Amino acid sequence: MTIAKAKVLGFCGGVRRAVQRIETELAEHGPLHTLGAIVHNAHVVDALAAKGARMARSLDEVPEGGTVAITAHGAGEEVYAEIERRGLRLVDTTCPIVRRAQQAAASLVEEGYSVVLYGEAEHPEVRGILSWTRGQGIATQSPDVAIPIGEKGIAVISQTTKSPAMFAEFVQELVKRYTGRVPEMRIVDTTCPETGRRYQAAAELAAGVDALLVVGSRSSANTRKLAETCRATGVPTHHIESAGEIDDEWLASGKRFGVTAGASTPDDVIEDVVRRLRGRAGGSSEEAK
Ligand code: SF4
Repeated sequence: MTIAKAKVLGFCGGVRRAVQRIETELAEHGPLHTLGAIVHNAHVVDALAAKGARMARSLDEVPEGGTVAITAHGAGEEVYAEIERRGLRLVDTTCPIVRRAQQAAASLVEEGYSVVLYGEAEHPEVRGILSWTRGQGIATQSPDVAIPIGEKGIAVISQTTKSPAMFAEFVQELVKRYTGRVPEMRIVDTTCPETGRRYQAAAELAAGVDALLVVGSRSSANTRKLAETCRATGVPTHHIESAGEIDDEWLASGKRFGVTAGASTPDDVIEDVVRRLRGRAGGSSEEAK
């Protein structure tokens, strides 16, 4: 049996940076609260909790004088103001790519555009970015909603994890509907290349294997989407959270296995899966080319 890992898999730069920052803070300054889950992966959340990082659903759960960490998804302008008002110590792990989207939203509004944010309205990153538009923006995945029009026109940006192809399709639909009806349309591509790289690497991996294992939390939207992308290739795909879910029947059904993982899956969980596959089948492991 051969086991091949995707060329790009697991933690993205933004999540890796956020987790490292929290670990450094815990080591140097002691316990803190994270505002929401630092990453959508129970293994990572539990490991950080054991070191003193508790999850708070709101600032009300952070004790007076405590430390609060904003996650890689970022937060709204009002959250920063409230942290300051309460005198809490802030550890900001907002991913630089999310920060760029927040800054784009704020400056487009300042220039006189209303902002259309292509994304899932309830996603924490989207709620955060939208807040930087100071009420001059909307988040939607449908071009058929009423869009407020700024003095200068409308500007379109994206949730970072949306695929560039889907964002382009959405923009095209808006262009069809609004050309000639608004003074100007601005498009700012705020998608993150990390997500696309994982899809691309998984598709390349699928071409040379009999089955794919997608490792990552079921609560992680990006891991679920990665599993969908793998299934769409026609190669049998199993989404597992950890090595303990590997089924011997899968191993009997093929000779070449491909392993990939979502952007929130840590290295040790991936390595555990590869080790378990090797151990059960006595196979060799290789990186996908
Ligand atoms: S997927 Fe991209 S935008 Fe999101 S945290 Fe990772 S690097 Fe940042």
